Amino acid sequence: MNEYDSNRIFDITKKIDYFPTTKKSEADCYIINTCHIREKATEKVFHDVGRVKKEFKNKKKPILIITGCVAQAEGDLILKKDRYVDAVIGPQSYHSINKVIKDIENKKEQYEITNFETIKKFDELKLTHNNNSNVSSFLTIQEGCDKFCKFCVVPYTRGPEHSRNFHEILNEADRLISNGSKELILLGQNVNAYNNNNKFLSDIIYALEKKKDLLRVRYYTSHPKDMTKDLFEAHKDCTKLMPLLHLPVQSGSDVILKSMNRKHTIKDYFEIINTLKEKNPKIKFASDFIIAYPGERDDDFKKSCELMKRVKFINSYSFIYSPRPGTPACEMEMIDEKLAKKRLFVFQNLAEKIKLNYKKKLLNQKVKVLFENKMKDEKDKYFGRDEYQNPVIVHSKENIIRKEKRVLIKNFSQHTIYGELIDNVNHLAA
Ligand code: SAH
Ligand code: SF4
Repeated sequence: MNEYDSNRIFDITKKIDYFPTTKKSEADCYIINTCHIREKATEKVFHDVGRVKKEFKNKKKPILIITGCVAQAEGDLILKKDRYVDAVIGPQSYHSINKVIKDIENKKEQYEITNFETIKKFDELKLTHNNNSNVSSFLTIQEGCDKFCKFCVVPYTRGPEHSRNFHEILNEADRLISNGSKELILLGQNVNAYNNNNKFLSDIIYALEKKKDLLRVRYYTSHPKDMTKDLFEAHKDCTKLMPLLHLPVQSGSDVILKSMNRKHTIKDYFEIINTLKEKNPKIKFASDFIIAYPGERDDDFKKSCELMKRVKFINSYSFIYSPRPGTPACEMEMIDEKLAKKRLFVFQNLAEKIKLNYKKKLLNQKVKVLFENKMKDEKDKYFGRDEYQNPVIVHSKENIIRKEKRVLIKNFSQHTIYGELIDNVNHLAA
């Protein structure tokens, strides 16, 4: 979502003639968009500010603005500690950035804007063209969270749940499609909690299914509790909805899930997986795990490993629990660091092994790949992603960017899969 927000910030600042540049050290305004979800987020910001100071040591100081969730959570501290920072702007107030930049140009006052003005923000965004023309583009449809998992800072930094207007979302989708996007990734902290006047996520997916020039739809990140019947049906009916679901589970132990206030059990989780497999036998799953959450016993950890083995997630993100100031779990006793690291090591090894087996099975399979760009340093090599978001590289004399092609998988390395073009899927479908 930060990537979506950064692009939208650019779309807004263009209105006052501040354009994105790759020459960082020549910028007139420097914006650091931050994430607060884990670890030493604030320290990292001060580190980044130090880097900017160094870069601009013998030059005119740029306007320096910190945006995102660290600005939201620790904005006053940042402003007090470092006068070099001109403003902090939270994730629900960046529609005001032009006013802030103009005021700083004139007065050089420090600014803190951390109100939750989600509705105003989307009102501004609806009037601001989304200029993104990536093959695969993000589209925020929902923000914030009311679930309050005990470890998580999102409800405090992104604020309460808000679903964008259904028609505005489809307008932005049209704009992105006419810019050339072939895949839309619908975003939200709880994207499947989307509800705008009884229009749900499934309604957006069905509406996108009808868009002629759009090839693929995905959504991130969904909460097990909000996997509703209509969404199951969408997975059966909508051919553009990709057969990979990122469904964070966090732990394989019901005791830990309860202590996290996750509002779902492992039984619930399997019911969702089984229903989705019935609706679409091609579907595969990815997930997030928190390792060494306070109170996690050996037995609980083993249950996370068992779950990993049972579901065989093709992708998983696992991190050691990171205490977030202001969250209830922050008061709980931490697991010994050495033990936590050991568990993470064991878990990630297991996840890698499962992924490797999955990749081996891909060899000599035919997959559909949507091509996103040409490789920079390699001649006639194109990069794309298959339906399960695996990165695939092929050789092609023809420019295949923005096209979906069938590919025969020939080889793979740790991060990439290599294949050969078979034919033109678009032509076959014509
Ligand atoms: N809304 C989604 C997740 C959003 S946060 C859900 O409920 O599943 C993205 C991921 O960051 C989470 O899935 C979780 O695994 C991780 N995360 C959040 N807070 C964390 C913390 N304090 N320590 C470690 N990982 C954390
Ligand atoms: Fe955080 Fe997701 Fe829980 Fe909301 S549902 S508090 S975003 S982990």
